[in-house]
Amino acid sequence: MFALEASTIFTPTKILKDTYIIVSDGKVVKLTKTLPTNVDKIDSYESCIVAPGFVDIHTHGGFGVDIMYSCTNDIKKFIEKLPNTGVTSFVPSTVTDSFESLKRFSEKFSSIKYVKGSEVIGIHFEGPYINIEMAGAQSKDHIRCPSVEEVKVLSGFFNHIKKRVTLAPELEGGIDFIKALKGLNIITSIGHTCASYQQTIQAFSAGARLVTHIFNGMKPFHHREPGVVGAALNCPNVYAETILDLIHLHPATVELVYRCKGSKRMVLVTDAIAGAGLDDGTFKLGPMGIIVKDGISRLSDGTLAGSTLTMDKAVKNAVKIGIPLIKVLEMATLTPCKAMMVEGKGYIREGNDADLIVLDKNLNVISTYIKGEKFFSN
Ligand SMILES: [Zn+2]
Repeated sequence: MFALEASTIFTPTKILKDTYIIVSDGKVVKLTKTLPTNVDKIDSYESCIVAPGFVDIHTHGGFGVDIMYSCTNDIKKFIEKLPNTGVTSFVPSTVTDSFESLKRFSEKFSSIKYVKGSEVIGIHFEGPYINIEMAGAQSKDHIRCPSVEEVKVLSGFFNHIKKRVTLAPELEGGIDFIKALKGLNIITSIGHTCASYQQTIQAFSAGARLVTHIFNGMKPFHHREPGVVGAALNCPNVYAETILDLIHLHPATVELVYRCKGSKRMVLVTDAIAGAGLDDGTFKLGPMGIIVKDGISRLSDGTLAGSTLTMDKAVKNAVKIGIPLIKVLEMATLTPCKAMMVEGKGYIREGNDADLIVLDKNLNVISTYIKGEKFFSN
């Protein structure tokens, strides 16, 4: 049993001062003003902030590793390095590919065990059931109509974690697909789509609860056809992923999303590719070649292709725009957990996993604890 002490704790929705977080067996057991006598040690961080660890629900990789196509050893390295950016749990994302390829990935990834690092709390199949017109960096060759049978097979590899599929709901059978997935306890997210406002509302009514990188991979907002953007901003219960690299979205657009969704429904994600956390260079996003220049990740034709963002940078960017830190931290911790229906994480309270990060006053990650174990200390 140990105590963690810092000047300010963001739970993230409340600010606590002069409080010890008592950790035992990987869990937060107590938040207290008086130090219990039986603690073994105190990790003390002066002039620092403690918050829940960041939760990234949309990433394709980083540090030179592509989650879908790299070998098991490289994926392990990625998982080990993620805590350096404050990420204590994450949801890996696939890209559009053949069923065989997705199956191979699922088999490989689900067999990775006992890696010390960030925790995998879900799996995100980004496609292949998307609109070819909004493919973005997704390979057009394997885009197809939704198949519940395929999803059943693929999700079967991930029994103990949350599952999510990004779908263009206007595809044939799209709405029935959402209902079927809901019945299987699989989350549907709307993205890479040309859906109209009406079609999106129908998709939300059928059970879709999330929008994949709002504004990107969908039609722009039009006053006579507000589309996915209008529906997402209008429907209070829907979560909206936001890529906060200040490249995918203008700061004013981020502000607009924040004003409409608030910290309880706006989710910070990276959508990071292998080039994240590295210098400029050439990488792969699934089968697609990518060039990263000045930190911007594009296909050879100039299409934006994921990002090189890390969660700590996303948080800094959000604060730079003027969103209050307490709200930003919620959008990087608790709200992503809620969007993915993950419990016991993203909030510092008794009984929850001791996934904690320590930030200095410039929001640099100083230390990362996952289930009470220290992984990273700057
Ligand atoms: Zn993505």
